[in-house]
Amino acid sequence: MKAAILTALNTDLELRDDVQLGDLGPGDVHVKIASSGVCHSDLSAQNGTIPSGFPCVLGHEGAGVVAEVGPGVTSVAPGDHVILSFVPACQRCKPCLRGQSYLCDQAMVVATTPHFVIDGAPVGGFTGLGTFAEELIVSQDCLVKIDNDIPLGIVSLIGCGVTTGVGAAINSAGVTPGSSVVVFGCGGVGISTIQGARIAGASVILAVDTLESKLEQAKHFGATATCTPDAFEQMKGELTGGEGFDFALECIGNPTVIRATYDAARRGGTAVIVGVGRMEQKIEFSAFEFFYGDKTLRGSMYGSANVRSFMPRLLSMWKSGSLDLESMISRRIQIDDVNDAFHAMEEGKVIRSVIDFS
Ligand code: NAD
Ligand code: ZN
Repeated sequence: MKAAILTALNTDLELRDDVQLGDLGPGDVHVKIASSGVCHSDLSAQNGTIPSGFPCVLGHEGAGVVAEVGPGVTSVAPGDHVILSFVPACQRCKPCLRGQSYLCDQAMVVATTPHFVIDGAPVGGFTGLGTFAEELIVSQDCLVKIDNDIPLGIVSLIGCGVTTGVGAAINSAGVTPGSSVVVFGCGGVGISTIQGARIAGASVILAVDTLESKLEQAKHFGATATCTPDAFEQMKGELTGGEGFDFALECIGNPTVIRATYDAARRGGTAVIVGVGRMEQKIEFSAFEFFYGDKTLRGSMYGSANVRSFMPRLLSMWKSGSLDLESMISRRIQIDDVNDAFHAMEEGKVIRSVIDFS
């Protein structure tokens, strides 16, 4: 089958049509991928921001159909439609049992278990998935079953960007009705965050991006005001009387913007960091300001979402019309064009490219 493989840092993905699958072990499920979004985290694996090792089949935002199940699989059956979760939700480990399945203990186990075979050697998938492949094998813990009438070409975005962004606003930040929100970065994750803030009832949602084209799009998804970074201080003054925002969310992964996000929250407000920077990048804070600001600063892993309950909620928001997934898909492509999709994302030309496997 076809798959796109990272073979070295900062090189185009290698497209091959002779990739095979390993054995279907206990608890494993063989899934035919219907569609996969291209997320910035895939790009971050390619440029080394997120360590993935290689060779590695990239892609972690997908939906598909169960083809066959291994011994002991009880949660899905052949023919079931599923969204793939890039963090397992095993429902047995301590984090899962305390209601934090986005921190599931099994994540590293899943991420380091290879399920592809290339030239006779085992090869892993990014985060344990590898949705830039026509088919994959994954633990049943990474699958969320959905109704068979839901279009798989659209809901793959829920596999990462949408759960991450909407969850960051609703779960991690806890955006409240009537509040003020600023979102830095308007890619797939930032646009989802803006949608989450709108759904949570924020009355002011400022979208910040370096690209005017992204700001134009942000309005469609619920931004009530937009600006480029150079105009941010002025906008903050106009929208909050200068005190800062109730909630500030960073959806880029840039240390300078992460620092600015903390500053953008008002005293007593909340700053949430969703973007992923490099391990060695540092951010400086004074030892005085935490006390004085009384702010909440938190990270956000996978939208602090429990995928088994949150993904069905997202689907119901989509069905009721409050969550717009269709407009987030800028391009539908074939797997052969995945490198173009990476370049388009680097240039800020897309919210999301989606690979169609059907
Ligand atoms: P993207 O590339 O589609 O979007 C990033 C946006 O930020 C672009 O619109 C770009 O123009 C804008 N931008 C870049 N530099 C900027 C700056 N200095 N000021 C303002 N805007 C700027 O990326 P995405 O897919 O939306 O992902 C965003 C981030 O979220 C990445 O770091 C990704 O790795 C991370 N992510 C985190 C999680 C999580 O669980 N926390 C999950 C998925 C993705
Ligand atoms: Zn992602």
